[in-house]
Amino acid sequence: MAATLRDTRSAELYERALQYLPGGVNSPVRAMRAIGRSPIFIERGSGAEITDVDGNTYIDYVCSWGPLILGHANPAVVEAITAAAATGTTYGAPTAGEVDLAEEISRRVPGIEMLRMTSSGTEAAMSAIRLARAATGREKLLKFAGAYHGHLDGLLAQAGSGLATASLPSSPGVPAAATAATVVVPWNDAAAVERAIAQHDFAAILAEPYPANMGLVPPAPGFLDLLAESATQNGALLVFDEVISGLRVARGGAQELTGVLPDITVLGKVIGGGLPAAAYGASRDLMERIAPAGDVYQAGTLSGNPLAVAAALATLRQLDEQAYLRLQATTEQLADGLREAADGVPVQVVSTTGLLTVFFSQEPVHDYAGATACDTDRHAAWCRALLARGVYPPPSQFEAWFPSLAHTAEHVERTIEAAAAAFAEVA
Ligand SMILES: *Cc1c(COP(=O)(O)O)cnc(C)c1O
Repeated sequence: MAATLRDTRSAELYERALQYLPGGVNSPVRAMRAIGRSPIFIERGSGAEITDVDGNTYIDYVCSWGPLILGHANPAVVEAITAAAATGTTYGAPTAGEVDLAEEISRRVPGIEMLRMTSSGTEAAMSAIRLARAATGREKLLKFAGAYHGHLDGLLAQAGSGLATASLPSSPGVPAAATAATVVVPWNDAAAVERAIAQHDFAAILAEPYPANMGLVPPAPGFLDLLAESATQNGALLVFDEVISGLRVARGGAQELTGVLPDITVLGKVIGGGLPAAAYGASRDLMERIAPAGDVYQAGTLSGNPLAVAAALATLRQLDEQAYLRLQATTEQLADGLREAADGVPVQVVSTTGLLTVFFSQEPVHDYAGATACDTDRHAAWCRALLARGVYPPPSQFEAWFPSLAHTAEHVERTIEAAAAAFAEVA
């Protein structure tokens, strides 16, 4: 039987929001248009659960799109933020915490000796590209279709007219000149990468090593090695955008998991512990090109913000090897359960530690074309059915689920039960 969601208060707030905020939201995916409904307004969160303004409680698999690897309102994180706020929220001068955090991250992430903090992943990606261009004296970028690196102009390019051609902007307002230097090829397509590097001198090959913004589409065996070799051969720098995968798929991110080291790493999401923070890092040589050590300008009023740094340190303190083993077990339990719950509905459940996608597809998904070929209508109906049963999935086929360390075996069991009922409803 179809369950329905009580959402009177959310609907009222949405009506008001539409008058003052474009689309009623401050970031597009929150509007839930991709699953054919209006947004749900959240009132509070605790651990793995969130409660909306109508009093519905959900097991949350968005977790703010990745930052909340410990779940909502983790007591140690709340305490750290509160203590930091009581002594001043920002100074625009260095603090001890920033040094602790930089040291901790460089210990964890193999490709980072030195880093610069920013306030968003977009800013960090933009700055990493500036550094790559400065270091190589080149302008062109190679990126992958379906990969997201924030909303900077130069990367809002889609795979247009073939891999040898510079792409057209994928949003109005982005000048053609901004994307003219961006070449887009399909993910997991070794031949396309080889053709591109034969034709262009790139400043950077830019990749999400575990792409999770077209749904989760892990690299084919050897593909990341090919990217590293291609970068070396081409004279380009390899930039891993680990804004999602960093500090999530393993303690040291995808680069630790796969053993493939990038020249520059971009971090975000988990690194802020739920507050606005991101970073880019590399070898000391490269990073000392950044001002004031070097000549590449980059700055930020709230960069290294004391509250974000306190939240980050309190988060990282809880992320030891054991934590990743637990997150892996939770993710596997969820993936296995969802696969079984599908019971004949054609889906591909793809997962790695802390990330999961249910593609509504008969075929395995290897790239963006495969992701966009999914049955998004059925996926949308399934997501609405999950919401009505107290499970809050990412409201788009092209996003990943973010199980957290606050999700217990019992949460996962309840999720699988709800998912089975939702699959039956859309079968
Ligand atoms: C979220 C994301 C970004 C952008 O980060 P913001 O903090 O939203 O600006 C960049 N790259 C990847 C891989 C992301 O998932």
